[in-house]
Amino acid sequence: MSAYIIAVGDEILSGRVLDYNSHWVSKRLTSLGFKIIRRSVIPDDVNEIAEEINNAFKKGAKIIVLIGGLGPTPGDITLEGVAKAIGKKLILNETALKYVKRRYEELCKLGLVKASDISEPRRKMAYLPEGAEPIYNAVGAAPGVFIRLDNAIILCLPGPPQEAFYVFEQVVPKLIALKERTYTASRTIYIEEIDETTVADILKKVSEMFPDVYIKTFPTGFGKRMEVTAIATGKDKREVEEKVEKAINEFLRLYNERKGLSK
Ligand code: ATP
Ligand code: MG
Repeated sequence: MSAYIIAVGDEILSGRVLDYNSHWVSKRLTSLGFKIIRRSVIPDDVNEIAEEINNAFKKGAKIIVLIGGLGPTPGDITLEGVAKAIGKKLILNETALKYVKRRYEELCKLGLVKASDISEPRRKMAYLPEGAEPIYNAVGAAPGVFIRLDNAIILCLPGPPQEAFYVFEQVVPKLIALKERTYTASRTIYIEEIDETTVADILKKVSEMFPDVYIKTFPTGFGKRMEVTAIATGKDKREVEEKVEKAINEFLRLYNERKGLSK
């Protein structure tokens, strides 16, 4: 099942902030068995956001994750872009408002904010696209947003990394429920090679022999080791484990043969 990640923020485009969230979300979604088909970084602009969501739809993405721009300031316009893309209005969501109120009461008790009353900027965070479900944010204040569409779901995460991670974990059960139960098996080996090009033909051969195994080399930086990883996803746990094992063994066999090491 495919996922598309969109980091929203001028601060990321300018380089002021490193887009760590997309990397983290990629890793988490991959470990849950989703396939990331694209990651993009776009400005805080309603039209650009709507356009990028439409791109994700066109690519057939089943999960579209947007990160950033859910906060209280006028510059936080991610949900406007989402509303535009799906043809919905932003309306005050009572549950989201309750969540925001609860957080400001807690933050006030902790002495982190002066007052707990809901000012306009605070109320702004409770305006969600019609039909959206707010996800409680116990780290910051802006709720995450989960939207179920006919062909895809849209998940909006707050920008500050600890908040993004927290909200993401809240929706993991929903994400798992979206897909058929699949298993992902992976196996990594290291070989004494520096240059990826020397094994490119072997990699190609193995990929052709095992079309549903994703096998790839990764240079590990300085030194001699090169990582070779094979990954497969499928419904049968044993089957995917076996496929991955066979692909790696075949890679090793061909590689050793090349080096004249085979018995
Ligand atoms: P405004 O657009 O109103 O100025 P903002 O851009 O600070 O607000 P968010 O986009 O929600 O609001 O981001 C809040 C903070 O979270 C950012 O200042 C940044 O430090 C961090 N952040 C946002 N996106 C990411 C990201 N993709 N990876 C890592 N950190 C991020
Ligand atoms: Mg931002």
